[in-house]
Amino acid sequence: MKRALFLDRDGIINKRIIGGYVRSPLEFELLSDVLPILVSARQKGYLLILITNQQGVGKGLMTTSDLDAVHEAMQSLLDRHGARLDAIYACTDLAASNSPRRKPAPGMLLEAIAEHNLDAEQCWFLGDSITDAQAGKAAGVRTALVGEFSTNDADISTPNLAQMQRTLSTVLRY
Ligand SMILES: [Mg+2]
Repeated sequence: MKRALFLDRDGIINKRIIGGYVRSPLEFELLSDVLPILVSARQKGYLLILITNQQGVGKGLMTTSDLDAVHEAMQSLLDRHGARLDAIYACTDLAASNSPRRKPAPGMLLEAIAEHNLDAEQCWFLGDSITDAQAGKAAGVRTALVGEFSTNDADISTPNLAQMQRTLSTVLRY
């Protein structure tokens, strides 16, 4: 069985737009501190799988082709650093829709685990929101949060991506 490093997008791969959505490649700002995390996880044999809520589509503020364009730009940017993602799961459902896929529900993670034949116990989910950790726990994967969190919120947490890189490098195994 394989294992994966699951990644939230906004706040982990790219800068969050507070109160808004990344609607075009021009608005996509890569967080360079994530690159060593991606490269090192890949070297250790982890698949890199994006798990992202994008309700801007559900709200009609952007289209699915806008979202695809953002993700194509993201992938070519990451590719230049040897950090192209292996798969992308996006949920465009609205927060109010009781979606089984929208985080904190674990639907996207469970789909990815089944489709890529992953050993959940050996997978990690790296995010920056408590709902990322909730989804991860519900899917039976280990959880890592960047930001100000308490020790109960996730298996590990660090104040920023640079420190997460050091912490993850000790827990991600070959
Ligand atoms: Mg986020």
